[in-house]
Amino acid sequence: MSSNCVFCLIVESKIPAEKVFETEDILVIKDINPKAPVHNLIVPKKHLEDFRSFDSSHSNVMVDMLLATKELSNMLGGKDFKLIVNNGYSAGQRVFHVHMHFLAGKDMPDF
Ligand code: AMP
Repeated sequence: MSSNCVFCLIVESKIPAEKVFETEDILVIKDINPKAPVHNLIVPKKHLEDFRSFDSSHSNVMVDMLLATKELSNMLGGKDFKLIVNNGYSAGQRVFHVHMHFLAGKDMPDF
């Protein structure tokens, strides 16, 4: 855990967030500034900076992140969705704790 990381503070329930569901390894929350009618963030509970931090020891986390996308779609009746992962500042990342954006609820082929 990193004491100045907003997602670590959410994982530790030290600041509030709208939780969608969680597993042992991941937490799904609603984005505070949604860019689509449904905008969730799939966040590992363990602090890792971006996808380049993953190695084979994180396989459970990676599987849970991917399976969460199917669960979220199922919760929306099988709705289509888009996934975005920003890795590094120049790619648009602003919270440096790995997360996957799950976006759904409008047509966004060019999002
Ligand atoms: P990124 O630019 O990929 O790092 O995305 C970070 C995302 O985190 C943005 O979409 C923010 O709106 C979202 N965000 C930042 N702080 C919070 C928070 N306290 N609760 C929920 N979402 C947040």
